[in-house]
Amino acid sequence: MGLPSRHHTRSRVNKRRSHMALNSRIFIKCPHCGRKILPHRVCPYCGYYKDKEVIDVFRGLTKKEKKQKEKDLQQ
Ligand SMILES: [Zn+2]
Repeated sequence: MGLPSRHHTRSRVNKRRSHMALNSRIFIKCPHCGRKILPHRVCPYCGYYKDKEVIDVFRGLTKKEKKQKEKDLQQ
């Protein structure tokens, strides 16, 4: 079995890991509801993609939740 032949300093390890940081995600504005969403994805708030309704966001919600969601979408 191979063993590391040299000690890796903390500095060396940290320098290597300096390239592993995650970038902040890019957001676009939903053309239908105007919220910040990820590009090339269906809007999770209004269910629209390219000016068409793709998913029904009210499905499986109670009457109260539905009312609240409708209110949120109007803003
Ligand atoms: Zn939207």
